[in-house]
Amino acid sequence: MAQLTKNLKVFDEEAERKQILREYRKLLRKGRDRFDNEDKKQIRHAFELALESHEDMRRKSGEPYILHPLAVARIVVDEMGLGRTGVVCALLHDVVEDTEVSIEDIERRFGNKVARIIDGLTKIAGVFDLSTSEQAENFRKLLLTLADDVRVILIKLADRLHNMRTMQTMPRNKQLKISSETLSIYAPLAHRLGLYIIKTELEDLSMKYTETEMYKTIAKKLRETKRERNRYINRFIKPFKQAFQEEGVKCSIFGRPKSIYSIYNKMKKKSVSFEEVYDLFAIRVILHDVPLEKEKAACWHAYSVVTDHYCPNPGRLRDWISTPKVNGYESLHTTVMGPKGRWVEVQIRTERISMSFPGVRVC
Ligand code: MN
Repeated sequence: MAQLTKNLKVFDEEAERKQILREYRKLLRKGRDRFDNEDKKQIRHAFELALESHEDMRRKSGEPYILHPLAVARIVVDEMGLGRTGVVCALLHDVVEDTEVSIEDIERRFGNKVARIIDGLTKIAGVFDLSTSEQAENFRKLLLTLADDVRVILIKLADRLHNMRTMQTMPRNKQLKISSETLSIYAPLAHRLGLYIIKTELEDLSMKYTETEMYKTIAKKLRETKRERNRYINRFIKPFKQAFQEEGVKCSIFGRPKSIYSIYNKMKKKSVSFEEVYDLFAIRVILHDVPLEKEKAACWHAYSVVTDHYCPNPGRLRDWISTPKVNGYESLHTTVMGPKGRWVEVQIRTERISMSFPGVRVC
């Protein structure tokens, strides 16, 4: 098969070699402060083995296969904060499943820990064929018990994310199957692990394939209303931003747009049009330089400053500071009545929490 592909198309091997090296260097550069010399040696070792064993393989798009494990490795460094073992395993994640290399080879070269993670990843791939939501739930449970090391799940998620990002050249029926699997299994898993940005991206990418027209319509409307939304956000945050400054409270305030998928869900659930979905964004207040023991008090103080200016909806207060979510998420969420009678969600948390969410740190 690889040979056939090769005959059909003439590839510029020199250009490809340069591209592969460029991607490899980017990976190392991203983890610069995290990798010592021994880490780099192991990563280079894994890269060489992956390069060699995937040598004649190409992705559906025609590009060299090795670019996929390289991209997955970058996701685990940049977007999940994993260290050396995570990178080594990401580089090798398809090696045992798709090539001649055995799990014993991996163990001999990289040790028991890496071998166990690769073995977990290979086993997950082996039991993969589910469609109904009940099966999906069972599969999620299976994933969590199968994986005695959470990195198995994280690398599997990174693998799926990269496949979703590069699915354009897949046949339509595959795109649909992979997207619905992503929505029923992977997005909820990412959510459970507190990887909210990844969860959102997985949902949006799935929707792009399953509800293409609706996705394009909402994306377009979001673009068209961006200026008006930014103006509203600035007007909304101005009074309490000023109050924080006067008190010397160090913080950053952002208006974060809601995802296309969550807007669409709201439209469906409430049977309303795009124009009637008022909360297209959430405001996030991140408090800086707060000592651990003062976090709770600082968040509640910020809450009191915000609600000095806007009236809160008592039914919409969520206190995950006093009782964090199971996955460790800590934040204070409130919904207040903003200008023009629009409800606005405000999320208050400290820098420490926003550093770990999204992004699970495992060393
Ligand atoms: Mn893969």
